[in-house]
Amino acid sequence: MKRIQLHWQILIALVLAVFYGAFLADYVYLIDWMGDVFLRALKMVIVPLILSSIISGITSIGNAENLGRLGLKTIGYYIATSTIAIFTGLFFVNWLKPGVGADLGFTKEVEGLALATESFGDTLINIIPTNIFQAFSNGQMLSIIFFALLFGFFITQIQEKPRKTLTEFFDSTFEVMMKLTLFIIKFTPLGILGIVAKVVSEQSDLLQLVSKMGLYMLAVVAALAVHSTITLPLLLRMVGKINPLKQLKAMSIPLLTAFSTSSSSATLPLTMTAAEENAGVSNKISSFTLPLGATINMDGTALYELVAAMFIAQAYGIDLTIPQQLIGVFTALLASIGAAGIPMAGLVMITIVLSALGLPLEGVGLIIAVDRILDMFRTTVNVWSDSCGASLIAKSEGEILKVMK
Ligand code: ASP
Repeated sequence: MKRIQLHWQILIALVLAVFYGAFLADYVYLIDWMGDVFLRALKMVIVPLILSSIISGITSIGNAENLGRLGLKTIGYYIATSTIAIFTGLFFVNWLKPGVGADLGFTKEVEGLALATESFGDTLINIIPTNIFQAFSNGQMLSIIFFALLFGFFITQIQEKPRKTLTEFFDSTFEVMMKLTLFIIKFTPLGILGIVAKVVSEQSDLLQLVSKMGLYMLAVVAALAVHSTITLPLLLRMVGKINPLKQLKAMSIPLLTAFSTSSSSATLPLTMTAAEENAGVSNKISSFTLPLGATINMDGTALYELVAAMFIAQAYGIDLTIPQQLIGVFTALLASIGAAGIPMAGLVMITIVLSALGLPLEGVGLIIAVDRILDMFRTTVNVWSDSCGASLIAKSEGEILKVMK
C-alpha cells in the first residue's frame, strides 16, 4: 500500500487534534506528551544544526565581499517585506475599525509588561555574547548566529591544512544534523496531534471569544492572508520567476508545523531541511538566511503588532494622527525584529509600540485572550516569508531551484 504523504498525515493529525481537544479535553494528558517529546527533539537539534549549517555555509561563501552582498540582500528583503506587511495591516485596521466600541470590560490583567523595555541599542549590543556557551545553553539565536558567522569567516582566513580539516568537520557535522532532523520530521504528525489537542483543550470559551473579538481576529487574519497569498507570491513570481504554488508545496511541512507550534525557532530545523531538499536552495544561502530570518524576519508579527496597537487605540477611543500611525509602523517593525521565535513573544513586544504612541500598556490585556490563536496564523506567515526570502535570494545568486516555473 502506498504511504500517505507526510503533509497529508500532518493535516489529518491537525483535524483529529482539534476534535480531540474539543471533545476529550479531560483526556488530553494521554496524548499531550507526544507534543512535548516532539518539541524537545526539535529544540535539541536547533543549536548544533544552525551552528554547523552556518559555519559550513560561510566557508563555502568564501570571501567578505560575497558575504556583504548576501547580507545586504537579506536585510533588504526582511525590512521591505515586513514594512509592506505592516502597511497591509494598517489598511485593514483602518478599514474594519475592529476596536471602535470594543468591550473594555473584557480586559484581563497581564503580568510582566515591563519585559519589553530593553532599548534597541541594548538589543544590538547584546548580540555579542560574553560567554558563547551561555548563549548556546540559553538558545540566544542572534548571539549564536553572530559567533558562527565570525567563526566560519575566520576559518577561511587560516592556512590550508587546518582550514580543510575544520571545513570537512563542520560539513560532516552538518550532514549528520540534517539526517537527524529528517528523522525527527517523520514524527511531526504525532507531535502536532499532541500540541494542537492541548492548545484546543485550553480554549474553553472559544465561541464567546470569537463573538467578542471576531472583527479584530478577522482584521488580523485577512491582512495576513493578503500578505501571504498576494504580496509574497507576486514578489516570488515577478522578482524571482519562482512558482508560488511549487514553493508552497515544498514548504508545506514547516508551514503546518509553524501553525501548530507557534514557534519559528522550533520550526527552523524543518524550514531549513525543506528549503534545501524540496526547494533546492543551497546550504550556502539557506544557512545564512533562514536562522537569521527565524529570529528577525517576522512579517506576520510585524503586521500583528500594528493591528493590535491600533485596535487598542480604537478601543480606548484615542484617535491617532497619520504621523502617529507612521511611528506605529516603524515601532511595529522594531518590535517584530526584537520578538523571539517562540509562542506569544509578539504579545509582550506590543508594549514597545504602545509606549511609543502613548497608549495605555494595560491595553495588552484586551487582546491576550485571542493571542495564542492569532499566533498560529502570524507564525505561519513568518515562516512563509523566511522561506520565500531564501528562494528569492538563492535565485538572485544564480541558483537553479526546484520551485521555478
Ligand atoms: N510566535 C511567533 C514566532 O515564533 C512570534 C510571535 O509571537 O509573534 O514566529
